[in-house]
Parts: sequence; C-alpha cells; structure tokens
Amino acid sequence: MRSASGAPVRRIRGGRARRLRAALGMRTRARRGASVPKCDYCGSTILFGGKRDGEFRFCNDRCHQSGVLLAVSRQVPDNLVQQQVWSVHQGRCPRCGGTGPTDVHVSHRVWSALVLTSWASRPQVSCRRCGMKSQAGDALFSLVLGWWGFPWGLVMTPVQIGRNLVGLAKGPDPTKPSPQLEKIVRMSMANRALVTGSGKPDASSS
Ligand SMILES: [Zn+2]
Ligand SMILES: [Zn+2]
Repeated sequence: MRSASGAPVRRIRGGRARRLRAALGMRTRARRGASVPKCDYCGSTILFGGKRDGEFRFCNDRCHQSGVLLAVSRQVPDNLVQQQVWSVHQGRCPRCGGTGPTDVHVSHRVWSALVLTSWASRPQVSCRRCGMKSQAGDALFSLVLGWWGFPWGLVMTPVQIGRNLVGLAKGPDPTKPSPQLEKIVRMSMANRALVTGSGKPDASSS
C-alpha cells in the first residue's frame, strides 16, 4: 500500500491491509455508476487531480490518510455508531460550545505562488455558524491568495470560492446527521479502538 505521507497507513499491514483492500474494493464497485468522482472521505467533487488509492479517490493527502481508516471503521457495529452519531449531532458544537445541530461543514481554500497552486477541502465537525465562519474565511483567503499561479490558480480560485458560496447558501439537513458525519464518527471510533486495542504497529513481528 502506498501512502503519500501517512503515519496511520503504516500501522496497517499484512492481513489487515488485505482486508482493507477488500473493503475498499467492495465499496468502489458499488458506487461505480457515478459519473463525477467524489472524494470518498469528505464527499467533495474532484474536478482536477486528487489522490488515487486503487480505485478509491480522495481530494488530497489529508483525506487519503483519513480515508484509510474508513475501511477499518466498517467493522465498528452499526448500532454503536448510530448512537454516537446522534449524540454528536444533537450535542454541543466542539468548536464554540454552542448549541447544535452539529454536523460536517466542508470549507475549501486555494493559494498560489507562480507555478505552484495548492488547494484543499477541509471537513470540520461543528455547528452551522462555525461552519459558515470557516467557509467565509476560506473564500476570502482564496480570493486574496488563490489567483497568483498559472494556470491552476486561475482555474481553482473560482472553483473553491464557488464551493464555499454553495456551502454558505445551503448547509446539511439540520433534522438528521449527514452521511459524512456518520463516516467521521465511525472513523474516530475505529481510531480509538486501534489506539487502545490492537493499535501496536505489527512491523515488530517480522
Ligand atoms: Zn476530501
Ligand atoms: Zn460552533
């Protein structure tokens, strides 16, 4: 398994990696009908670039690293996940401590320097107010710093600003947790299980 820079990936080897592959394979086969590729972690549409891992796609390294846990997390029992998802959704915002509903809000930014352009979509678990604050901040950030690269700065700056505006105009359904929130909660549960349980790197066994 190749990981760009991911420590979490390194932890998963041998049998676990094969199981991971199988889970990833099943997942992508089921959703192959879609024409526009989406990041399998944060759900953002991937227009240009992105990271491939087998047939799995992510918008950037950060989502790729998190996405590896996604497969492991499928082993966490559904009823436990549902319980936790709803308690996060109905609970207080982890950023500002205000009232919920708490859900995933993705903000998008881009910056450029001459021939280099870097863009990322960042999911954040928070209330809608905090989500909108990040989206407005990233829109402004991109508006100022996005343009100064050729050609991608000129292409991606309107894209990232547009995505933030879409997010600002319409948030996730406040009456129920989004699928993205379920994914993220599921993964944090899996991560906790890995760290406290069988989280030892199995490289030591060779
Ligand atoms: Zn992503
Ligand atoms: Zn908040």
